[in-house]
Amino acid sequence: MKLSNFINGAFVAPINGQYLDNFQPSTGLKYGEIPDSDEADVVLAVEAAKKAQPAWSNTPAEEKFKIMNRIAELIDAKREELAKAESIDQGKPFWLAKNEMNRAAQNFRFFATATMQFASESHAMEDKAINYTLRQPIGVVGCISPWNLPLYLFSWKIAPAIAAGNAVVAKPSEFTPVTAFMLCEICNEAGLPPGVLNVVHGLGGKAGQAIVESEFTKAISFTGGTATGKHLARTAAPMFKKLSLELGGKNPNIIFADADLEKAIKTTVNSSFMNQGEICLCGSRVFVQRSVYNEVRDKLVAEVNKLTIGNPLDENRIGAIVSKPHFEKVLSYIALAKEEGGVILTGGKSVQPEGFENGWYIAPTIIENLPFDCRCNTEEIFGPVISITPFDTEEEVLMMANATEYGLAATIWTTNLNTAHQMANKLQMGIVWVNCWLLRDLRTPFGGTKSSGVGREGGWEAMKFFTEPKNVCIAL
Ligand code: NAD
Repeated sequence: MKLSNFINGAFVAPINGQYLDNFQPSTGLKYGEIPDSDEADVVLAVEAAKKAQPAWSNTPAEEKFKIMNRIAELIDAKREELAKAESIDQGKPFWLAKNEMNRAAQNFRFFATATMQFASESHAMEDKAINYTLRQPIGVVGCISPWNLPLYLFSWKIAPAIAAGNAVVAKPSEFTPVTAFMLCEICNEAGLPPGVLNVVHGLGGKAGQAIVESEFTKAISFTGGTATGKHLARTAAPMFKKLSLELGGKNPNIIFADADLEKAIKTTVNSSFMNQGEICLCGSRVFVQRSVYNEVRDKLVAEVNKLTIGNPLDENRIGAIVSKPHFEKVLSYIALAKEEGGVILTGGKSVQPEGFENGWYIAPTIIENLPFDCRCNTEEIFGPVISITPFDTEEEVLMMANATEYGLAATIWTTNLNTAHQMANKLQMGIVWVNCWLLRDLRTPFGGTKSSGVGREGGWEAMKFFTEPKNVCIAL
């Protein structure tokens, strides 16, 4: 499979003729090539976007709605095909990829309706004047996404960007480019005008950097690692670009003794290991109140031991790690955990499923006895590795939960309403789930505090990010 860039509605080769290898995580083998694009390709994509944007922004909202809704319907219609491609490209189980394709369709459907509903404010000054706020599209915007939830996150950016009347130059992760490529075919089929969405494939430091450096991309929506986010901000800030940064996390999952433990344990298996732990919202630090610690720990280990690991296209719960470098990074953290005093309760090693011995599989790993402030408990591992730690009081667990540079999400398990409110109030996170995990209403603000990001996605927050407010004051 040889992918192309998508510029001005056409599938084109990179100008330099260079390609990168694309690997299949479940086998460890090369199975395709993607354009190794550079600045020259980005310049073409930006030109196409500049040309397309004025007509797109003046397209009646209902027409925009129809096209975006058609994209959603086509994603639904091609769900199995897209999910299979995603599973092969990313290593995630097929059943999970199918769920994620539902979400990709929802993203387009949700923001299709936003384009019809979006409105702005007016401020009357008694009998003197009236102000009204225009929220105009920014123009050309850049959208850059990571490898963990490829189409889900790619569409989460592109849908609001075009709903708000912008034209987009986008880059999916070089590790998981295939469904973004397939989305371009869908956009053509749905009648999205050429140039409204342009996709340039390639490396972050080359193609991605060129998108951020272009003087014509006036806003950048980025999801990825914190170190990349810092670098990106250094490039974009002096150019006064609008920036939305959705970055890493090290999320606490806090289980109080009064919780519905059965539900908490069942959900904790998912919140720890879904998508091999490669979800920014996974809870990688499990804190359990001491009186139920042994019970929760033992039941959790027993449940995790039932998870099947293997070919993502079969019925396994756990698939393969996205890439060889990431596989090695996760294993290096398991080795570090042992040096830091950690005791491996289960997992702690790579796995070689029969027939897939060269794939990148890691057994779901639970580690206890790690100090709350050691590297394994404060740095993002982003794999199937969690720590479990006992606590006594609310104050103690709050201190430990907040003791990282990250502030993306937290989960609290308790039946005490007061505890839930107190904790939610004091946790330094952008998102707090109480007695649930990954329950998402697309209207809510999504994003992190501290080094987990700047800005919020979702609902009106996204529509506001992708528009420029202008106040018009009219004397009466
Ligand atoms: P990454 O930062 O390595 O790459 C993300 C994207 O940025 C890729 O498309 C990459 O090619 C591109 N990129 C890299 N260098 C660039 C540069 N100099 N200029 C422009 N673009 C560049 O992240 P990753 O390894 O793909 O993803 C994993 C990270 O993403 C984890 O830290 C995870 O927590 C985070 N993440 C965050 C959220 C969230 O919503 N907060 C969601 C998913 C993933």
